[in-house]
Amino acid sequence: MSSPLGWAEPETAETIAVSSVRRHAYLILLVVLPLLALAAGACVAWGRGIGPRDVVIAAAMYAISIFGISVGYHRLLTHRSFKCRRALRIALALAGGLALEGPVSLWAAEHRRHHKYADRPGDPHSPWAYGETGLAAVKGLLHAQVGWFYSARRRSDRRHWVPDLLADRDIRMLDAAYPATVVMSMALPAAVGGLWSMSWAGMWTALFWGGLVRYAVVHHVTWSVNSIAHSFGGRAFDTRDRSTNVRWVALLTFGEGWHNWHHADPTCARHGVLAGQLDPSARLIRCFEQAGWAYDVRWPDPRRLADRLNAESAPPRKSLSDAPGRPAGTWFASLPGDRRQQAEKVPDHDRPDDGAGDNR
Ligand SMILES: [Zn+2]
Ligand SMILES: [Zn+2]
Repeated sequence: MSSPLGWAEPETAETIAVSSVRRHAYLILLVVLPLLALAAGACVAWGRGIGPRDVVIAAAMYAISIFGISVGYHRLLTHRSFKCRRALRIALALAGGLALEGPVSLWAAEHRRHHKYADRPGDPHSPWAYGETGLAAVKGLLHAQVGWFYSARRRSDRRHWVPDLLADRDIRMLDAAYPATVVMSMALPAAVGGLWSMSWAGMWTALFWGGLVRYAVVHHVTWSVNSIAHSFGGRAFDTRDRSTNVRWVALLTFGEGWHNWHHADPTCARHGVLAGQLDPSARLIRCFEQAGWAYDVRWPDPRRLADRLNAESAPPRKSLSDAPGRPAGTWFASLPGDRRQQAEKVPDHDRPDDGAGDNR
């Protein structure tokens, strides 16, 4: 099949053809509208500025959306890094929906395919799809950021990639209610702004900053993991793909930018495992665990960390136990509690079909 991609898009049972109508809808909703919103936001901020009320509302909506994607869509529902009570599971999936990145089953299906084929033909959004140098590399970055929404002629087949989610009544309900979630994503900041200011003007500015601009910023921050964190930055761990750790992406995504370790151990609940790698999403999962709302959390396994360390990126010492005053396993970021999950002990049948096995 002809494809605008440098790599062919394999016609397998794992993917289904996407209609031209749907591709154009993606082009408008996921590429053009966010760019217009960002441009409008920059113009208004330059001319009139943004008031403190709208800053608070937009920041809160940003935090809910990013945590919803990171903790809900990604770590809980795509990779099953932890289990949690039903109410929390629904709340996290709903929060992820507010980011307007699509129904969770579709998001998880694309992402599991990304893990299986990361940076190889079959990866839906690798920045290396067109080549490695010059214009091809720039084109690849744009493709990974947003271009694939429109250029891809095939999308991940949910029946193949996320049968576990399709079998989940709550997830099916949230998928079906996704249009209502889209309305809520805009109506919530507008309602808060209107009630807070008791004015129509306050409602409109909150809709603009907390709804429209926030959705655009959240999108591009999330997509930067696909583009930047597969192109630039350090690779402390050996993986078959080209995933990297990028501090500023990690800051904006609440930990998702520590993408290299995530590809080394996709089901791990913590992505920032090295010293100084802040991972607020892992911290939030830890809070849920301490509150008794989350359990069976797959915390990093020190043995796996040591095995995966890239010798060239590791601190200059002979072995983990060489570091003076730092016994093996403690030079990465402190691990929460005593409940470090022994990844090797997790039975294969309990792992999500995220291609992790093909990627190690
Ligand atoms: Zn990746
Ligand atoms: Zn992942």
